[in-house]
Amino acid sequence: MSRHSTEDKIIWTVPAEEREALRLSLWNACVERATVCTACALSSTRHSVVFGEGDARSRLMFIGEGPGADEDTSGRPFVGRAGQLLTQILQAAGIERDAVYITNVVKCRPPGNRTPLPEESAACDGYLQAQILLINPAILVLLGSTPTKWILKTTEGISRLRGRWFDWRGISVMPMFPPSYLLRYPDGKKIGSPKHLSWLDIQEVKKKWDEVRSGASERGEEQ
Ligand code: SF4
Repeated sequence: MSRHSTEDKIIWTVPAEEREALRLSLWNACVERATVCTACALSSTRHSVVFGEGDARSRLMFIGEGPGADEDTSGRPFVGRAGQLLTQILQAAGIERDAVYITNVVKCRPPGNRTPLPEESAACDGYLQAQILLINPAILVLLGSTPTKWILKTTEGISRLRGRWFDWRGISVMPMFPPSYLLRYPDGKKIGSPKHLSWLDIQEVKKKWDEVRSGASERGEEQ
């Protein structure tokens, strides 16, 4: 911490390296805690805690519902068929998967891939909120009904909310269909199909991300 004074006040500042070291230590503490977490019943059936993956300093973050079987086995989010489709969608829009951060509302697999119970989402919320605080994204993409309802505290369905921007605590939030739902609609060229709508949505996300990054680079901030 350093201090300097102006005519009428003393200003304390934390150097950027010190702030980054603190952020990293909080992040590691959060990962360590999640890895052995038994705060809800999902801990008794999981094989892995799927904390998240990607660039933990990205301004673009994706939140899904919860790990599936492949994710539970590998310990990584969005690696099964739905995850591969997400990677393809990102790539098609010019978004490198490694350049964003991807996680879920719950970090342990609900048995049979059922929707997480409200008490399970609540038990896991501390991790999600810590991730959002420490990553500090400018854009949040909510993949499906569960993360959309959980974050935006709405009862409206994903079909009505997808493709629209919301302001949540100063973060631009876009709900989208989950990739698992899109797998049911292989024809992405059909105008108005869920896949076609998702293609429009991800292009909007990419446009906003480009704006965020060009604004940051004009201000001389690291990307
Ligand atoms: S789902 Fe979250 S709260 Fe429940 S055991 Fe796993 S890490 Fe803990």
